[in-house]
Amino acid sequence: MQRFDDFDRLEVLTRVTGSLVNLTPLRVGVGREPMLGSAVDIAPLRVRFADGKTTPYIPGSSLKGVLRSLAESILRAQGKHVHDPWNFEAVEGEAEGEGFCLICGTFGSTRLASHVRVYDAYPEGEASTFTKTGVGINRDFRGVQPGILYTEEQVAPFARWRFMMDVINIRVFPQPSDDRGKLLRQLLQLLAGGMVQVGARRTVGYGLVRLERGRYEVYEVKDGLLVKAAEGDVT
Ligand SMILES: [Zn+2]
Repeated sequence: MQRFDDFDRLEVLTRVTGSLVNLTPLRVGVGREPMLGSAVDIAPLRVRFADGKTTPYIPGSSLKGVLRSLAESILRAQGKHVHDPWNFEAVEGEAEGEGFCLICGTFGSTRLASHVRVYDAYPEGEASTFTKTGVGINRDFRGVQPGILYTEEQVAPFARWRFMMDVINIRVFPQPSDDRGKLLRQLLQLLAGGMVQVGARRTVGYGLVRLERGRYEVYEVKDGLLVKAAEGDVT
């Protein structure tokens, strides 16, 4: 039985940092992709600074969500059963005795805190945006709907974003200690290989990102203090 509710004490903390580069246009919308044909203007998420300037950013929750669904598809490809994150019965069953599955044991559920924290990624410098106007498609007739236009604000390719992720009580580097560590290692490899998409419009290839200069630092608690036990490149 797998008990992953080990938050009463911190044993190991892994911090992964690096630069995320978007290889294709990036649009980080709120929530679901808009329906084709909906006449809405969609901007990347922005944050306002005190001097009145704004900057787009990639929410950590979006990045974490993408990593979670990628982890789910990896496990499914291995023939393992993966429950829906909102499957109340499955989540309760795990908490009441079965033990948590690898996905919940890594990314959390309504009954278990997450062992992974992904921070909001801000541009390292300027992230230039452009606006694209599209023509709405009528869903029912699969044709162009005259008069329906939508505009989207997108971040141009090759912007760099500061990536930071913490992993609590799962060993990922230098050697994974369990299947969750192996899974996280795989996810980071996919990220470093430029195989992960974030944001909306993924079906048309948007939001492909690559982790560059990925580094890890492993901290362990020794005599009540957090000390660096290992560090290296994410490969
Ligand atoms: Zn689960």
